[in-house]
Amino acid sequence: MDITDIHEALRNDLVEVAKLCYERRYICGTEGNFSIRLDEDLILTTPASTCKGRLKADELILTNLEGKPIEPTVRKPSTELAMHLTAYRKRPDVRAIVHAHPTVAVGFTVAGQSLAKCVLPEVVCTLGAIPVAPYATPSTDEVSKSIEELVTTYDALVMDHHGALALGKDIWDAYYKLETLEHHAETMMVAHLLGGVKPLHKSQVEKLMDIVGVYGLKKPACAPELLKPDACAKDA
Ligand SMILES: [Zn+2]
Repeated sequence: MDITDIHEALRNDLVEVAKLCYERRYICGTEGNFSIRLDEDLILTTPASTCKGRLKADELILTNLEGKPIEPTVRKPSTELAMHLTAYRKRPDVRAIVHAHPTVAVGFTVAGQSLAKCVLPEVVCTLGAIPVAPYATPSTDEVSKSIEELVTTYDALVMDHHGALALGKDIWDAYYKLETLEHHAETMMVAHLLGGVKPLHKSQVEKLMDIVGVYGLKKPACAPELLKPDACAKDA
């Protein structure tokens, strides 16, 4: 496969992920934005004011790491692209980013409820804790500032009264992290409805951290946060 074919395949992957997010209602209307880092200074991203459920591969925009389109286009990149670029600068290992507005995870921030609880072993081993970035006015520099420290440690986070951000080694990896984040939030919501969340115990979380290698995973960078009293339950 030459580089043109690789880039075409990545365009198609991005369009497929955007459609999935729309169909699963992680975004609605013209919300959400997606990007792939094709090269150190070459970003493939989604246009502003376009329904991502009906996106076509030739509508995607190529920009440099400053967010400037590198070829003539009638479309503009999303106003939230700056947030993606901040994350790429902080994390050279990240090759793709998904930003959506999943209802349940965002609902937790609207209710002022924490998602940073150890409740599902799979989430503990893959994402670790899920933090909330402080509220920032959309489409301003505040958004990049609100996430820039968190993305150095976390691959998935929720943005207060706004949305979720997931970083991956490719666009599918980022998408699966978003899906896991929303699934975690849905499970937490059900637990709240049924009488309250009972987090895993500290010793259970420690054991999970010891065996993450069995699943072919690395210990999450935020592992120390998982053992704090807010995230897990005290052992009897
Ligand atoms: Zn947004």
